[in-house]
Amino acid sequence: MRLVAVTKGRSLEAIRSAYQAGARDFGENRLEEALPKVDALQDLQGVRWHMIGHVQSRKAQAVIGPFDLIHSVDRLKLATRLDHFAAAAQVRLRSLLECNVSGEPSKEGWDLARPEAWPEASRELVQAAGLAGLEVLGLMTMAPLVDDPEAVRPVFRRLAELAKQLTGSDVGRWTELSMGMTDDFEVAIEEGATIVRIGRAIFGETA
Ligand SMILES: *Cc1c(COP(=O)(O)O)cnc(C)c1O
Repeated sequence: MRLVAVTKGRSLEAIRSAYQAGARDFGENRLEEALPKVDALQDLQGVRWHMIGHVQSRKAQAVIGPFDLIHSVDRLKLATRLDHFAAAAQVRLRSLLECNVSGEPSKEGWDLARPEAWPEASRELVQAAGLAGLEVLGLMTMAPLVDDPEAVRPVFRRLAELAKQLTGSDVGRWTELSMGMTDDFEVAIEEGATIVRIGRAIFGETA
């Protein structure tokens, strides 16, 4: 189980305190905010940065290098752009494919909400996983915000099922499921999360 401390909106001092307390994995969801922080905190040994938010295709090149893992590869166009730049840099970019399990329009990712969309989504996920410049390690999702975390259990379960199904067939060995945030991480872990992304429970309510 990997705990990613989500540092969006948090100060460098707050991040340093979390580091002192033992945190080594930090997640940011905007490139413009992440890059200066990565730069300013280079003195912290052993830190791994995670990109967990939407990446615009025209900024794809900028995620190659600073990040240990991209959680938010959310569409084929981005996957192919990243593949292109990773190949040019002669690296394999450690990635997760983001899925929209709940169907909320505000969420990014491959649409798994409508059963009729599954065949195409599966095809594209397999295609993305096959790109030589990407080392796809598994899937990521964001559950809807709800009062009762039990309500989102089916979202996590569906993602775990899909990962298992694709691992068994068309893609390499997937080991990672990035799911669960402050309000729902217990349920996500019960459903098989290997990475949780936690902001408020670590840094406090207001960012
Ligand atoms: C902000 C954010 C989180 C953390 O949310 P909390 O509810 O503060 O734990 C996790 N994942 C993503 C993609 C985020 O943007």
